[in-house]
Amino acid sequence: MAFKALNSLVRAAAQAFKKPSTLEFPEKRELVTDNFRGMLKLDINTCISCSACARICPNKTIEMVDIETEKGTKKMPELHMERCMFCGDCEEVCPTKCLILTKNYDFERFDKREFVIRPEDLDG
Ligand code: SF4
Ligand code: SF4
Repeated sequence: MAFKALNSLVRAAAQAFKKPSTLEFPEKRELVTDNFRGMLKLDINTCISCSACARICPNKTIEMVDIETEKGTKKMPELHMERCMFCGDCEEVCPTKCLILTKNYDFERFDKREFVIRPEDLDG
């Protein structure tokens, strides 16, 4: 019995000096590889409303919706991120390279309705 208690104490002490196996997220972040595909980002100033991204998306993640700009109403991509599989087809087909996959993996939501992201909120 005493041996078991001593053994537990030794293991607990050893654990206290061990490097943590998890990161203190979000203060510390995992480094991602160069080809990591994360959250999409849109530059609404260079989007030409061609819809190529919406047409090529295999999961129908992208829906073209109206947004108000200084030059009037324009169609821009709205994302339904719960359907995105990060294939990169939309980025590849975009003629102005205004829609890109970023390295951001921090976009969890508690309600799946919040995965519908307006073009204005993808900008920047
Ligand atoms: S990365 Fe692929 S699945 Fe996601 S929006 Fe683009 S084309 Fe669709
Ligand atoms: S994001 Fe690119 S592919 Fe999609 S509508 Fe705009 S310009 Fe076209």
